[in-house]
Amino acid sequence: MNFSNAFKDPVLCRGLLDRLRAETDAPLRFMEVCGTHTVAIFQSGLRPLLPEQVVHVSGPGCPVCVTHESEIAAYLELAERDKVIIATFGDLMRVPGPGGKTLKSAQAAGARIEVVYSPVDALSLAAAHPQSTVVFLGIGFETTTPAVAATIKTADRQGLKNFQVLSFHKLVPPALGALLSDPDCAVDAFLLPGHVSTILGTAPYNFVAEQFHTPGVVAGFDPADILQALLLMVQMRRRGEYAITNQYSRAVSDNGNPKARSIMYEVFRPADALWRGIGTIPDSGLVFTDAYRQFDAMEQQELTLRDVPNTPGCRCGDVLKGKMQPDNCPLFAKACTPARPVGPCMVSTEGSCAAYFKYNIGS
Ligand code: SF4
Repeated sequence: MNFSNAFKDPVLCRGLLDRLRAETDAPLRFMEVCGTHTVAIFQSGLRPLLPEQVVHVSGPGCPVCVTHESEIAAYLELAERDKVIIATFGDLMRVPGPGGKTLKSAQAAGARIEVVYSPVDALSLAAAHPQSTVVFLGIGFETTTPAVAATIKTADRQGLKNFQVLSFHKLVPPALGALLSDPDCAVDAFLLPGHVSTILGTAPYNFVAEQFHTPGVVAGFDPADILQALLLMVQMRRRGEYAITNQYSRAVSDNGNPKARSIMYEVFRPADALWRGIGTIPDSGLVFTDAYRQFDAMEQQELTLRDVPNTPGCRCGDVLKGKMQPDNCPLFAKACTPARPVGPCMVSTEGSCAAYFKYNIGS
């Protein structure tokens, strides 16, 4: 068995599952911060096997899902501009904005919108269309933002004047702080995102344990990773320990990736940001540093974030705060399905509403 398959080994998984079941002796509420973990738990078939005493709730770690209604409205406003080509990841195309409009419907009405697979594709688009300005819609967390920053540095080196980024990037640790500061927060331990942590390391989560007395485990995405992480979470709760533990040491070091962070913080700096269902979280977003402001679509296109009413009936905010399971939303699998999504949690491949629908939970 090669190394990567070792973390899917059924014998290893069975042993971990048996220990997890044996050691879970009290009701617990665990948050999967990142949608990739939620999907991995379903995809691997683990979910029905996990101890019933543990309630698994979703967190704010799906980039499309946390993109605020006002930010979607800014995308749609940009789509109406002459001489602008929008470059975006595909998931954003179907997220409903004000009045149910989407980038997809704007594209059908004539807006120039291209789906790209990386920010570098957007750079190529800009080089191919010198008469237009290509604006890349920058969303995502610490995992993807360094690549966007590196692309902007490349554009700067190449002297590309018709490439901009609309940065609605977000940072994971401040969101955890906001959740934990809510007196109604009932999370007993966090399953922390492995990919974000390859950049961050483990130190930025230490406040979760030290200040809020809540344990967390940085975990990989294979079944044995998840089971081992859940076991560590159960064990810490049983012993009354509060620590941040790194289960994913084959990919995550304590100090993360300082080079990637340095590129990210050369181009961007932290600023307050809007999160869907949560509101403004201090220093949880990334805006341009002065040195790169010529690439800032918000400034160069003179966009503002306007007040936009919440999507009627959608409970994504409660889902993202771990306060509601997707199948408890009154619209789930009725008015809201992946074919006709009402909110972003039903659109994104990392959205927990989409995962619950795909794996037939609650329907
Ligand atoms: Fe929003 Fe649809 Fe999820 Fe309900 S089921 S919270 S409407 S995305």
